[in-house]
Amino acid sequence: MTLTRTLIRPSIRFCQSRAQKTPQQTRKMHVHSIPMWTGKGNNYAYLVTDEPTKHSVIIDPANPPEVAPVLKSQIKNGTIDLTAIVNTHHHWDHAGGNNEILKQFGKLPVIGGKDSASVTTTPKHGETFKIGERITVKALHTPCHTQDSICYFMEDGDQRVVFTGDTLFIGGCGRFFEGNAQEMHKALNETLAALPDDTKVYPGHEYTKGNVKFCMAVSESEPIKKLQTFAAQNPQTQGKFTIGDEKLHNVFMRVNDPEIQKKTGKTNPVDVMAALREMKNAM
Ligand SMILES: [Zn+2]
Repeated sequence: MTLTRTLIRPSIRFCQSRAQKTPQQTRKMHVHSIPMWTGKGNNYAYLVTDEPTKHSVIIDPANPPEVAPVLKSQIKNGTIDLTAIVNTHHHWDHAGGNNEILKQFGKLPVIGGKDSASVTTTPKHGETFKIGERITVKALHTPCHTQDSICYFMEDGDQRVVFTGDTLFIGGCGRFFEGNAQEMHKALNETLAALPDDTKVYPGHEYTKGNVKFCMAVSESEPIKKLQTFAAQNPQTQGKFTIGDEKLHNVFMRVNDPEIQKKTGKTNPVDVMAALREMKNAM
């Protein structure tokens, strides 16, 4: 374990190998959600911890006054050893807290797209790195919302999660600020859709209530009704749904579904994606 620590810190070590599975696993990857600007932007920062080593990364710590106290108390009581900042994209409400976190917590690697504040490492598409001993992270480039958008797929044994920033939301997707429908179609329906169906989704914002309203306007399917009920009863929906669920209740991942094609008047999946985004923007 000592060797691993010296290898990994301070610069997270990048490698192409997959996580080695140990059958005697007892403690697992831990994801701690930190809501930010609740009632306004409804953002999430996420603290991901490799339990055996306590090595942890903080994803999108955009509002230090809400994130730093959590980090400080966990460092103080020995539950985490902060090893890096990770960004999903460069927007201020995701990467805007990097410099303040670096000021308060010392020189940490900043892993993110090329436009993130103080970025030190931009992983290539498909490149993997480790958090501590057990968690393998794979970077997935998903340009569209921004050109530097990266989703992070993490695996610890049979536990799988993906941090999707503003690319994929529960029941929705981000606006096409720096990209087009073709890119979002590829991001959602090729790159993210290829992940195992049991991968839990952790998006950059809690937007589910608004998203499900739009999904219902497009298709009143059973999975969408189920999502609507869940969102009405639960203020937080991050980590509660999987890529498999999104393929059923997220209309942006149903571009090949005849019902959605009829509703948009388009058949080509890229045209369906473009039409859905325009309809949602107008809502
Ligand atoms: Zn954004």
